[in-house]
Amino acid sequence: MTYTIGIDVGGTKVLGGVVDENGKIIATARKDTPRQGGRALTQTIADTAIELMSEHTITSIGVSAAGFVSSDRKTMLATPNIADWNGVNLDAELSALIGLPVVIENDANAAAWGEAKFGAGRNQNHMMMLTVGTGIGGGIVLNGELFRGAFGIAAEFGHLRVVPDGHLCGCGARGCFEQYASGNALLRHAREAISASPEIARNLLSRGDGTIAGLTGQAITDAAREGDPVALAAFNTTGQWLGAGIASLSVLLDPSCFIIGGGVIDAGEILLKPTRESLERTMPFAGKHPYPTLIAAELGNDAGLVGVADLARV
Ligand SMILES: [Zn+2]
Repeated sequence: MTYTIGIDVGGTKVLGGVVDENGKIIATARKDTPRQGGRALTQTIADTAIELMSEHTITSIGVSAAGFVSSDRKTMLATPNIADWNGVNLDAELSALIGLPVVIENDANAAAWGEAKFGAGRNQNHMMMLTVGTGIGGGIVLNGELFRGAFGIAAEFGHLRVVPDGHLCGCGARGCFEQYASGNALLRHAREAISASPEIARNLLSRGDGTIAGLTGQAITDAAREGDPVALAAFNTTGQWLGAGIASLSVLLDPSCFIIGGGVIDAGEILLKPTRESLERTMPFAGKHPYPTLIAAELGNDAGLVGVADLARV
């Protein structure tokens, strides 16, 4: 058995894990993400790896982070949410600090690979994954391989335009998919319903600080599980958008399945059922071809770490 390390760089924490050939995490280390980003963050990643290397023999290291990664998997081209990291040749900087080969991958791509190899997408040659959290991340596995595109922005499904001149997105464009079908969109749909008729939302608002601004995705999920109509309607609207987007995506690459991950999938069938209904209702050439299945992700927050550890395996 050989071991690699996967390191998942998040907004608040850097989580490292020693992973075996079967995708099993056998040790972990965690550090706070330094706010200043840049070299401090690179050093934190190296420290995390070195801590894990002290007790295990490691062959290579993978690092996943939100951002655009060069097609040779060495350089972070742009990291919208991490300071002072644009254009950094992480492979060179980390290899110098750690002394092992390093592979860099976009976090949603890494998660898709983790699920494809060890999770919900096992045995699926063609699959797409949507990580539905604050936004929507995406990953594509074709012919059993991760598809990266020419310039590192493949599978940014969250920024497909679904509404002409719709809501302004963080990417600078308008009407992006993630403005309608993400965790933030779930909150938006709930807030719009509450604003329209505040008296129906007492139960939902009582789970937070009583204000619309204080509403959280977790509160909506909890309320939906107990049958709260406002929360269920917000999931229903989110699922309608999600399913219609997936129907469009399926005619692009015809995958056998879509794996839905990210925080919003904690709601399980509460999200998947309206998504499936919408997929079937909006599918082009309805009834004339097999439809992809929708599956909840299995690896949760570990998907990126496990996936990038495997990608680092040569
Ligand atoms: Zn966008």
